[in-house]
Amino acid sequence: MKYDVLIIGAGPAGMSAATYALRSGKSVLVLEKESIGGQMSNSPRIENFPSVKESSGSDLADKMFEQMSAFGAELELDSVLEVQKRGEGDFLVKCEYNEFSAKAVIWAAGAKHRHIGVPGEEELVGKGVSYCALCDGAFYTGEDVVMIGDANTALSYTMFLSNCCRHVYICTLFDKFFGEKAMVEAVLARENVSVEHNLSLQSFETDEKGELSGLVFENTKDKTRREYKVKGCFIAVGQVPNNEPIKALVDLDAGGYVIAGEDTLTKTPGLFVAGDCRAKKVRQVTTAVADGSVAAIQAASYIDGLK
Ligand SMILES: Cc1cc2nc3c(=O)[nH]c(=O)nc-3n(C[C@H](O)[C@H](O)[C@H](O)COP(=O)(O)OP(=O)(O)OC[C@H]3O[C@@H](n4cnc5c(N)ncnc54)[C@H](O)[C@@H]3O)c2cc1C
Repeated sequence: MKYDVLIIGAGPAGMSAATYALRSGKSVLVLEKESIGGQMSNSPRIENFPSVKESSGSDLADKMFEQMSAFGAELELDSVLEVQKRGEGDFLVKCEYNEFSAKAVIWAAGAKHRHIGVPGEEELVGKGVSYCALCDGAFYTGEDVVMIGDANTALSYTMFLSNCCRHVYICTLFDKFFGEKAMVEAVLARENVSVEHNLSLQSFETDEKGELSGLVFENTKDKTRREYKVKGCFIAVGQVPNNEPIKALVDLDAGGYVIAGEDTLTKTPGLFVAGDCRAKKVRQVTTAVADGSVAAIQAASYIDGLK
């Protein structure tokens, strides 16, 4: 079956796009490689989505999913490997298990965690190193952990971890935080949180089972060594956009984000880009949802214009 619109990513951008495209009378298939909600599922508390005073990211994701499903959205769990344009109004989307075709494609694949690149990091994922406090924080209940990062994600994770861990040490590379003032203040008010700035991670230490046992940093100002004996380390040092499967069809900026304006148009007619994977200044649930709505309206109008 050829769909009107294939939407890649069931984060807020993709789910908003699905709702708008379906309400424009188009058939829609959403392709998602992990689970619905995207990054917001990792947020224990969202307080800045209009009309929802406070919600966990996963509850908000469930509501978006219910809404798009009520309009008839289909969801397939599969990982998109490549998007090809065969002709005007004719896209082929190749996934890990299946292939799908559509008249238009909305790319809403978001972004993933950046790794620091210190030797041993990859091997220690699941053995003490984590990029998701909400997923793995409970494993360290009652223990001391290190949080590496200086912006909103690191601050949000610290709030979550400080509820279950004995102590959270936040280590930042520079001499300040780059997150929202209210979040910085909330974190600094926690008694079981301490902050050390100007720390550059040098190495991971492991025990006889090959699991994390400590972290060694260098203070970039006075060049002293700083060591933390912890079994848990959470890393939130930025993101890498998930744009590899469409790189042949779009222009990317230096960070790998798709260059497209608020109209969500790419250089390939019929391919639209929405949410955190697009080059823009503010990456939030609200801006992702806005992009998704615009992309769906643009896609519907592209389809209506096909001969
Ligand atoms: C810890 C944390 C806390 C946050 N807190 C807030 C907050 O309080 N308020 C706020 O407004 N924002 C918050 N954000 C930011 C917000 O979650 C993001 O801006 C938003 O989720 C971006 O939505 P998106 O749909 O563009 O992308 P994403 O949420 O990244 O969703 C993209 C989806 O695409 C899927 N995907 C990727 N590649 C493929 C592929 N090849 N094939 C199939 N599927 C694919 C992914 O699995 C993912 O589900 C937070 C983020 C984090 C990490």
